[in-house]
Amino acid sequence: MQFIDLNQQYRKIEEDMNGRIHKVLEHQHFIMGPEIQEMEKKLAAFTGRKYAFSCSSGTDALIIPLMAMELSKTDAVFVPSFTFFSSGECVALVGATPVFVDCDETYNISPEKLREAIKKVKEEGKLTPKGIIPVDLFGLPADYDEILSIAEEYHLFVLEDAAQGFGGEYKGKKAGSFGEVSTTSFFPAKPLGCYGDGGAIFTDDDDLADKIHSIRVHGQGTSRYDNIRIGLNARMDTIQAAVILSKLEIFEEEIRQRQKIAKQYSEELQGCFRLPVIPDDCLSAWAQFTLQAKDEEQRNFIIQKMKEFDIPIMVYYILPLHMQTAFKYLNYNEKDLPVCAEFCKKVFSVPMHPYLSEDDVSFICDKLKSCI
Ligand SMILES: *Cc1c(COP(=O)(O)O)cnc(C)c1O
Repeated sequence: MQFIDLNQQYRKIEEDMNGRIHKVLEHQHFIMGPEIQEMEKKLAAFTGRKYAFSCSSGTDALIIPLMAMELSKTDAVFVPSFTFFSSGECVALVGATPVFVDCDETYNISPEKLREAIKKVKEEGKLTPKGIIPVDLFGLPADYDEILSIAEEYHLFVLEDAAQGFGGEYKGKKAGSFGEVSTTSFFPAKPLGCYGDGGAIFTDDDDLADKIHSIRVHGQGTSRYDNIRIGLNARMDTIQAAVILSKLEIFEEEIRQRQKIAKQYSEELQGCFRLPVIPDDCLSAWAQFTLQAKDEEQRNFIIQKMKEFDIPIMVYYILPLHMQTAFKYLNYNEKDLPVCAEFCKKVFSVPMHPYLSEDDVSFICDKLKSCI
């Protein structure tokens, strides 16, 4: 069994996919070809944003708008500690200081702890609060009503990291539509993935859009021979846009399928493990279906046992950002953010993709239950 089965998806759309890739091979516009524009238009419409810019990865999608914001070392950007490394890495890479925040029972950044962290930074007076990067972890959009109101109160920008949340919804609004700017990743294993690296940036802000457009290609000005700032080479390949266009045709159907699978998991595992907590007015894109064992020992036992049944189990995440070696210079202690530190010892994710059959899910649930 595979953790994420991309082959079944390919078989379903093989003809359309091959046709679109072949078209690129024929027209040979490998860089910024017509598929890029077509995809960006569709992505903007999907999220309801004025602008969508494709780029080379979900990580570059985070770096580009942060570069546009011209932050300095004394600028603080608040990031959840329970996330993929990129969400914090991008802040340090552009020369600002990440301030890590604990999560709540949804696994997303806790608005309450966010407010406390902002107050603490202001009181200490060494850093200036500048922005927040909420992450839509495991597919669930963060609590944007709370986060956006805190951002307004303290005059902070919000950069939504929707790498896992793309396709999800919060109070009827799509992930990728929150804050000044949102980003996603098209890494193959994400809910909407291409066949290599890729990503996208979404905004409604004209000025920010201009800068993002420029930074994506070497800080270009209005003429391609005039470079007006230091930028990157961070374009997405035309062939990868063809892949996304093909997958977009079935994306909403896949998101619906993920809801059914998540529901079956929840029903069958009720009372056996701590289940994902999805607030009433939210739709998760179910990038992961994450459970909790009662402790680290039980988790290790489950992983080992499931291996014997050929069921892959992954641990997202085993180490929170505040305990990563690269962030040692920030001097965090594990207990500074106790909720996520505890989750890191207990969480495990089970196979999750739209092509799991009812029998697959039942089989996985039966075997999981046999572990406890
Ligand atoms: C995958 C991921 C990224 C980075 O995306 P890449 O395309 O792999 O660079 C950033 N943030 C989160 C939350 C992710 O899951």
